[in-house]
Amino acid sequence: MLFEIVFINLHEIFSRKKVVALEEYIVQLNGLDNKAYDFDFVVSDDFFTNFENSQIKKASLNAHLTLTKKPDSLELEISVLGSVTLTCDRCLDEYKENIDFKDTIFVEYGDKTDFNAHEDFVLLKQGENSINVAQFIYEFAHFGLPLVHYHPNDENGKPTCNPEMLKILEKYSLVEGKDEENVDPWLSQLSDIKNSMLNN
Ligand SMILES: [Zn+2]
Repeated sequence: MLFEIVFINLHEIFSRKKVVALEEYIVQLNGLDNKAYDFDFVVSDDFFTNFENSQIKKASLNAHLTLTKKPDSLELEISVLGSVTLTCDRCLDEYKENIDFKDTIFVEYGDKTDFNAHEDFVLLKQGENSINVAQFIYEFAHFGLPLVHYHPNDENGKPTCNPEMLKILEKYSLVEGKDEENVDPWLSQLSDIKNSMLNN
């Protein structure tokens, strides 16, 4: 399922407009022997502007790729390490989150479009002599994020959120009794309150 999405997105990011920006994430496969190769990529703010739905707006990440070439397939072990800037779901201010995520993508050559039987695999067209790893780095950076995006707590267990917003939240009783499942409706409520404050 996951890699189905990756496959579709790969086509999406290869649209004319975006190819130029992500060119540095193309790995040439021509002339590689059947062994492991290492590549390093710098992932900064510009990178995530290429993806419309990115939750990450700013980043200072390093991605390391170990590409292992085999006779009929590739293994791409990618680690993403560093920090990103997210929007806090509680106070809507930006905060920094550390990311340390590593996983392996298995790439097979073939022309099949139906590869549900190979969920763990990504297909590369027969004869394709390069692969753009930008999408994988994007996905892995997001997999490395926590489920909820909150400012960390201080040593007393209190949120380090924007104090003004915390006061407002307390006033509207929005801090207590909000479980994670209800984060969406309460987020929209919070946005409404913030907007009405800004407009007054
Ligand atoms: Zn916060």
